[in-house]
Amino acid sequence: MEKNIIKVLKFGGDCLNGSQNILKVVEIIISEKSFPVVVVSAMEGMTDLLINGINKAKGKETNVSDTISVLTEYHYNVAQESIKNDKVFNKTIQEITVLIKKVERLLYGVCYTEEITDAVRAYILSYGERISASIISGVLEDNGTQSNVVETDKIGLITDENYENATVDLEEFKRNFNFLAHNIFNSGVIPIFTGFFGSTPEGKVTTFGRGGADYTASVIAFGFDATELEIWKLDNGFTSADPDFVNNTNVIEKLSYFEAAELSYFGKKVLHPLTIEPIAPLEIPISVKNLLDPKNKGTLILPDAYIEENIVKSISQNENISMIRIHGTGIGYKPGLIRNIGDALSASNINIFATVSSQTTINLLIENKDAEDAVEILNSFKGKIIEKIDFVRNIALIAVIGEGLLKKRGIFGRILNSISNEKVNVEMASAGASEVAIYIIVPKDELKEVINALHKEFIG
Ligand code: ASP
Ligand code: MG
Repeated sequence: MEKNIIKVLKFGGDCLNGSQNILKVVEIIISEKSFPVVVVSAMEGMTDLLINGINKAKGKETNVSDTISVLTEYHYNVAQESIKNDKVFNKTIQEITVLIKKVERLLYGVCYTEEITDAVRAYILSYGERISASIISGVLEDNGTQSNVVETDKIGLITDENYENATVDLEEFKRNFNFLAHNIFNSGVIPIFTGFFGSTPEGKVTTFGRGGADYTASVIAFGFDATELEIWKLDNGFTSADPDFVNNTNVIEKLSYFEAAELSYFGKKVLHPLTIEPIAPLEIPISVKNLLDPKNKGTLILPDAYIEENIVKSISQNENISMIRIHGTGIGYKPGLIRNIGDALSASNINIFATVSSQTTINLLIENKDAEDAVEILNSFKGKIIEKIDFVRNIALIAVIGEGLLKKRGIFGRILNSISNEKVNVEMASAGASEVAIYIIVPKDELKEVINALHKEFIG
């Protein structure tokens, strides 16, 4: 059977920040030659508004009405500026009024009960995307193109019960969604999927964490067996370093899945960390594109390794990392220890970013927000094997990324040399764990110098 030509287009909140950009978005959708499947984020700032709205709702009615006024005014204005036809405008306003009413009731619920569960929070947050999808659909109609909003908690997009950081059961989704996917394609009506959330098997809304609409787009591309996925943003996709740190960065034209997956944990987090996973088995290419410069190819992400002459494609950083050092003379000798530690942390939903161990030390890299809890949990392991646990703060993790790093002689040496020329101490380094990344830990206040030195050494 010939494969249907389907392109999934995902537009981030930054692309949906006012009528000027929204009209560009709609133009891209309408001029698409293959069948466009659209995934949208909430409009810029609206997820933050909802998060703050929930946080300050408890016991404070006036705060609820403040949140609702801002939410209403923002979306009404955008709709008014982007939809010309009165009938379409009124219909859209009716739709979003119903959605906003729901948010209002939910926030009053939080206000009066003074309670909020993860499930309710996720449910409230999902409304940013529902409202945004409804407006984009209205603007499309205003421009003579039919579309339907598809809410992603109603299509069998089943996740685990991690309400604020859920993962999709892809096989289950494929089974549930197959029939609908065919119907949507055959109908020819453009679907506008709400990004950012799915649902538990019981139908409760779960979200994918901040930036999660990228992941939705990838899951939807998987569900349609799409030919291509385009992620639209307001700036250039992946750059050779974070432009906040380095002046002369360049846009990376091509990345492998592995490189992109590594990079999505670093720097400006161009993609949600899980974006590559769903499309990887189908080898669907991803393009990261700039709405303000749509002719520019942006960054193309492909399944296979692409080795550049310079090898290194990016120097990137993660500043939200702490290191826990677990010491004990018998550590390397104790079977199952790392597993037990991992199990104990994961039972508290603490994710280990990376581990590096020797015979006497296990180093765990974890997110700052989890660091104190992790130390507390690990303290219960102290005893015979584990003698001491200490905790290194104010560090930053740098990743040097490029296919072929391990195979090319001298790269690691050049990295260490450049850093020592800056008279900076390397707290930890790890080469060889990944074929595409070398990790180095340096003191946080020397991060900028080190990144610049490495960028100069490898990229120029
Ligand atoms: N609206 C959500 C957020 O702001 C999801 C997304 O934009 O990808 O994090
Ligand atoms: Mg966003």
